[in-house]
Amino acid sequence: MLQTPGQVRRQWKDLAVFGAPPAFASPLHVGRPNIGDRARFLDRINGILDRAWLTNDGPCVKELERRIAALAGVKHCMAVCNATIGLEIAIRALDLSGEVIVPSFTFVATANALHWQTIRPVFADIDPNTHNLDPQAVERAITPRTTGIVGVHVWGRPCAVDALAGLARRRGVKLLFDAAHAFGCSSAGRMVGRFGDAEVFSFHATKVLNSFEGGAIVTNDDEVAHRVRMMRNFGFAGYDSAVHVGVNGKMTEVCAAMGLTSLESFDGFVAWNRTNYDLYRRELDGLPGVSFVEYDAAERNTYHYVVLLIDEAQTQISRDRLIDVLHAENILARRYFYPGCHRMEPYRTLFPNAASVLPATERLARQVLSLPTGTAIGGDEIRTVSSILRLAIENGPQVSATLDGSASVSVANGA
Ligand SMILES: *Cc1c(COP(=O)(O)O)cnc(C)c1O
Repeated sequence: MLQTPGQVRRQWKDLAVFGAPPAFASPLHVGRPNIGDRARFLDRINGILDRAWLTNDGPCVKELERRIAALAGVKHCMAVCNATIGLEIAIRALDLSGEVIVPSFTFVATANALHWQTIRPVFADIDPNTHNLDPQAVERAITPRTTGIVGVHVWGRPCAVDALAGLARRRGVKLLFDAAHAFGCSSAGRMVGRFGDAEVFSFHATKVLNSFEGGAIVTNDDEVAHRVRMMRNFGFAGYDSAVHVGVNGKMTEVCAAMGLTSLESFDGFVAWNRTNYDLYRRELDGLPGVSFVEYDAAERNTYHYVVLLIDEAQTQISRDRLIDVLHAENILARRYFYPGCHRMEPYRTLFPNAASVLPATERLARQVLSLPTGTAIGGDEIRTVSSILRLAIENGPQVSATLDGSASVSVANGA
């Protein structure tokens, strides 16, 4: 699975951004899928075809739901076709309407899940230390129209769950978590999945645990679980009896088979990620202006995101210039979550003044740089990526000035 190790550069002028061939012949992605045991997966597929039970609460979906609930220490787990639909169903099941407070520093699906249902996402700023919703900013954003808060456990580092729960209780609003990054993570020893009124995991191909596409809504609330189960299946409570408006959010058996197979290798994926993360830290140690998003060693983490913060005043080369340098080498580092939801449509047009209350979001969005990791990446790749970053940053002013003088360079953009 490893790519050919890249060619080591000795001088900054040898960087591919100045015309040399790229260090990697094929692209190094931030999140290539983690694939579990192929034979186990194919066995499960054979079982599905033998049973001719392809969807609608089949045995693979049931087993996946049982296992996720057990791992997250939560009473109810409802598998869904993806986390975006999962968020939309959870938002309906919690009866949210009017305004809901949400971070802008997140994947745009968090805000879209609200706006798609004509709920107004009200962006609140983050704590610059945790990158998650700042409870005080949330409190300031509450109005008489507020019905809920959607927190996001960014990078798998849990939100201030107790402060947000206290605030939600005090102000009589619902609390939902977008836990798309946080399957297998803990807060004060408690697994993510049991916080708020409900939480939503993503099992998209690029997440640490994948079911091709997929997700799960988890909750300890029996009533919420009941509503989610109906809404996931067109609102049906039984044959010929729809009791609620619903959608089709079901997970298929094939996806659940992939999810179960991924779960069997989950500890191995996490150990691999941890090794990658530790190696990046050693290789980039001491580079001025470069810091890492850190994970609390006392908690459960998946180390699925290797995120650098680039302080341009010290590196003397901007985050965007570093992205140019890396992309030229076929290292497809990303700027998650640049520029923030509030700077994307339709929110940019709807809320033209949002940036004024989001200073920490704005600052962070200019600094983040996500590096390739996961089981498709190993030590050779990490040493090459790190040596290129080191070369560019140790010669920051020259690289930057040379790039500024060249018209052919453009900042990489897009999905
Ligand atoms: C991936 C992601 C989603 C969307 O998950 P899908 O399963 O792809 O729909 C939502 N929120 C965050 C924070 C994500 O990273």
